[in-house]
Amino acid sequence: KEPTDINALADEYLRLAYHGLRAKDKSFNAELITDFDKTIGKVNVIPQDMGRVILNLITNAFYAVNEKKQQEKDFKPSVSVTTKKMGGHVEIKVTDNGNGIPKKVLDKIFQPFFTTKPTGQGTGLGLSMSYDIVTKGHGGELKVETKDGEGTTFCINLPLTN
Ligand code: ADP
Ligand code: MG
Repeated sequence: KEPTDINALADEYLRLAYHGLRAKDKSFNAELITDFDKTIGKVNVIPQDMGRVILNLITNAFYAVNEKKQQEKDFKPSVSVTTKKMGGHVEIKVTDNGNGIPKKVLDKIFQPFFTTKPTGQGTGLGLSMSYDIVTKGHGGELKVETKDGEGTTFCINLPLTN
């Protein structure tokens, strides 16, 4: 673990993922919202691992809004990343206004190889790996809140004591 600027990491990956998508599909557009808590300072994490988690969540968020965009012509995709220092921990949230996760799917999203994406588009490993990195690797928590048809928020909770 090393002292890491989580805000910079999240900002970089948000833009990277967005421009990657736009390179493949020029018509894709999304509102990017960021709200970074500047008082966080550097957080002791394994930078590659935490970067991977954040990128996984952001990639899933873009996939979700892109999918909804294919279904609804007037839909305005939006992905937000926020950070916040709260007492002894840091909270990193990735929110999208996609279709949300149906209850039947929600029970399985953290299982390795579970995916609802077509063959070749998802390995189903992103969330299970992310879960292990956050919990086992950093003593934190990875939680999800979702509302059918309205969107999803993944929240990483990292203790500041490790
Ligand atoms: P993959 O992205 O390869 O499918 P993940 O482990 O990252 O694997 O995600 C597992 C499944 O969880 C996805 O296939 C999808 O059904 C669901 N999921 C994850 N993130 C979102 C999201 N932001 N919105 C809707 N569904 C999601
Ligand atoms: Mg994924």
